[in-house]
Amino acid sequence: MQVTFLGTGTSQGVPVIGCDCVVCRSLDFRDKRLRVSIHVEVEGRSLVFDTGPDFRMQMLREHILHLDAVVFTHAHKDHTAGLDDVRPFNFRQNSDIPLYGQPEVLEQIKVEFAYAFAEKKYPGIPRLELNPIQNEPFEVLGLTLTPIQVMHHKLPVFGYRIGDFSYITDANFIAEEELEKLKGTRVLVVNALHKGPKHLSHYTLPEALEVIERVQPETAYLTHISHNMGLHAAVEAELPPHVHLAYDGLKITLE
Ligand SMILES: [Zn+2]
Ligand SMILES: [Zn+2]
Ligand SMILES: [Zn+2]
Repeated sequence: MQVTFLGTGTSQGVPVIGCDCVVCRSLDFRDKRLRVSIHVEVEGRSLVFDTGPDFRMQMLREHILHLDAVVFTHAHKDHTAGLDDVRPFNFRQNSDIPLYGQPEVLEQIKVEFAYAFAEKKYPGIPRLELNPIQNEPFEVLGLTLTPIQVMHHKLPVFGYRIGDFSYITDANFIAEEELEKLKGTRVLVVNALHKGPKHLSHYTLPEALEVIERVQPETAYLTHISHNMGLHAAVEAELPPHVHLAYDGLKITLE
């Protein structure tokens, strides 16, 4: 299994438009964070988790030639805005793109991309197939994905586990029984916005480290990062040895 971090930034991305802070002015490529998303390649399948506003650039940068499905964590705009750009995959593959998500998430997508679901469709629009999922394991082309329900303030969001890999974004609370599903995972990705103060809907760095401590993965990566976290190089140096800040373009391989 190969996982590629397509984007690791919070909703505005890093740099933030109009911001002059040291992180937004940094020349380190690891301080340039597109909106959050990952690509997972496993057993010849190509999956993308969320299609944020930077989806097109992410597909081009990583030279992704084939897409089997999109799996959504939730319907916030920084996770859905780029969905129209699945069209080249529709054309190349001559097929619809299956979308997986909670029923509420797919309903929201139908509202925001109404033209793709209109009765009279104009030519060239995205061709999407909706697959509502519940909080129980489901299959995508023979691959088993297990949802992990996490809370993003009051919104239930799905994280996902595929084998030894787990991906949690946009959380600030995980119930005990959902945390249980993460146990034994070798690689855990979890969101961490900044060092502090406490945030309404996202884990801070100390809170994310606490989740990692409880799950005990071999390696953990932090994502959905704000410019307020600090410079990548400085924060990375302060973390425990098995915890890393993810950065755009980072690839991890699991046997
Ligand atoms: Zn988000
Ligand atoms: Zn800034
Ligand atoms: Zn969100």
